[in-house]
Amino acid sequence: MSVLAIESPSDIASALTGRDYISYSAISTYQACPLRYYFRYIAKLPEKTVSAALIFGGAIHRAVELHFREVMAGNPAPDLDMMLAEYQTAWAERDDSVQVQFGKGESLDTLGQLAERMIAALQQSDFAAGGGKIIGVEEELRSSIVPGCPELLARVDLISETEDELIATDLKTARSRWSQSQVDSSAGQLLIYSELARNLAPGKKLHLRFVVVTKAKQPSVDSHDVAVDPARIVRTKRTVQRVWQSIEAQQFYPAPSPLNCAACPFKEPCRRWQG
Ligand code: SF4
Repeated sequence: MSVLAIESPSDIASALTGRDYISYSAISTYQACPLRYYFRYIAKLPEKTVSAALIFGGAIHRAVELHFREVMAGNPAPDLDMMLAEYQTAWAERDDSVQVQFGKGESLDTLGQLAERMIAALQQSDFAAGGGKIIGVEEELRSSIVPGCPELLARVDLISETEDELIATDLKTARSRWSQSQVDSSAGQLLIYSELARNLAPGKKLHLRFVVVTKAKQPSVDSHDVAVDPARIVRTKRTVQRVWQSIEAQQFYPAPSPLNCAACPFKEPCRRWQG
């Protein structure tokens, strides 16, 4: 496909992917494996498998979304049964034609029991209060923040505010508690969110945080703040710019690793790929 005659980054994005924007998750996919990005966003190959962990994480997010939507509307917080019903609905709505890959010792039942423990832990944590007045749940933010790139789109799990702060929260489900190095290596996501959210509450200080709930017998719920460091924001935006330039130049190649490939839905086309 030739994109040479097309001028704007949005036009180029539309021509390449059918979308006039790029999502933060697409950027992350490219960083993890450029060929996987190509199969998903450009070739749009059907995904024949999905990891149970991905559906599980999405279903936990759905339950938490219900909680915060009710609180934001001024209603009582849903009880555990209501949140578990939402979790089950998310599973029921998945595409049946895509095979679910469970991990060792995992089943729908064991994951359901784990979800019950994790949701109960979230309900009892400080996170359940939202950190302030809730003003957005699963809020889609989109703006042109990186020169030469199409608009960036991100979905922020929770946006709340206090008298002097705007708080952007991303919820993670994780096998174990996060170390500071995990917080640091994931910080780019929140720094991009901070640029997208900046205009929501001009004059207020931005507060960025990950809330991490563990998949454990006794789940923990930890909050990790990310400093709004201008130098790191510049670095993150330059990284996004470089990733987009690579996509624009159609630089797609495999980046195999046990972590990347284990749950990749494109193993077969990857094996057949000849460059
Ligand atoms: S199998 Fe591995 S190298 Fe191939 S596309 Fe998937 S993640 Fe990339």
